[in-house]
Amino acid sequence: MNLRCADCGQEFPAATRQWRCDCGGVFEISERPRLDRDKIDAKVSTLWRYRAMFPTIKTEHIVSLGEGGTPLVPARAYGVEFLAKLEFLAPTGSFKDRGTTVLVSFLKELGVTEVVEDSSGNSAASLAAYCARAQIQCRIFVPAHASPAKLKQIRAYGAELIPVEGPRENAALAVQQAAQSSYYASHVYSPLILEGTKTIAYELWEQLDGRAPDAMLFPTGHGTLLLGAYYGFRDLLEAGLIAEMPALHAVQAEACAPLYKIYKENLSELPDIPQGETIAEGIRIRRPVRWKAIIRAIRETGGSVVIVSESEILSAQRELAHQGLYVEPTSAVAVAGLQRPLPEMGDELRKQLIVIPLTGSGLKVPS
Ligand SMILES: [Zn+2]
Repeated sequence: MNLRCADCGQEFPAATRQWRCDCGGVFEISERPRLDRDKIDAKVSTLWRYRAMFPTIKTEHIVSLGEGGTPLVPARAYGVEFLAKLEFLAPTGSFKDRGTTVLVSFLKELGVTEVVEDSSGNSAASLAAYCARAQIQCRIFVPAHASPAKLKQIRAYGAELIPVEGPRENAALAVQQAAQSSYYASHVYSPLILEGTKTIAYELWEQLDGRAPDAMLFPTGHGTLLLGAYYGFRDLLEAGLIAEMPALHAVQAEACAPLYKIYKENLSELPDIPQGETIAEGIRIRRPVRWKAIIRAIRETGGSVVIVSESEILSAQRELAHQGLYVEPTSAVAVAGLQRPLPEMGDELRKQLIVIPLTGSGLKVPS
């Protein structure tokens, strides 16, 4: 397996300590493993049942906490029926564990003993947990003003937290400095993350008895779940196991919606937008690193980008809680998006098979 720059095409060995190309482009995997339904290991209930479709990792290097295999339950909001994929039931309470289990297992395979990361939310909590399990030393750079509640879970797993003064960008700069001597286990930059998140598509195909949903809605910041789903469904399509790709819709918080601006105005550059305040802190991302791939996936599948207001996010969160589904505000963003007219759907919306992943537990951000 090699890594390849998405911008200039230069190839790098998978064991590289570089986290992006010299030209600044992000890495993708040069030849992704193909999906073979006969290679799904039905005896395994975690996402490691799809191990044959992952980069090669020896059994003794697999770092697993039982991730994947999340339930799919009927729900309803704003008069629309959908299936909720309960990703918040993952070992650390968010979908991030899908990517982390593959990334950390791969790091174990490489013999990496220490990593750095710069999130203050669900990715860092997930990385800290899997590193604890793998006995890999984990240092997380966080903005000095990050909310203490969010940091508790990360610290509990034994990760070292390094507060960085100034705006959020400073933590990113500090981690990039540290990455010169340590492995940057980034949820945003590492393409291994997408190899893990793609399993949500494989799982849905199995849960829906061999079909894809008509549409999916995702709360979208850096877009790793949307992109992972895109890769997974494309694998299914190429293997002849589904007839059509689901329409992938990205839902952003109005206060911080760069993808919406790119989509609406057909921009060819990442716009410089202010980082507005939103309760959906998991997707408060000004500069999504893989924005080109996200926009391409959305256009190719007939999806869209829509925005929702703060009050709509809160109302969607309540709507879910009143059906027994307790999620963090970021997760409610996707459900709030059901109020928007989605292209290609119109009045057909009510007849469609819609799946919405509920990405993070409400227990993480008790209000
Ligand atoms: Zn490049």
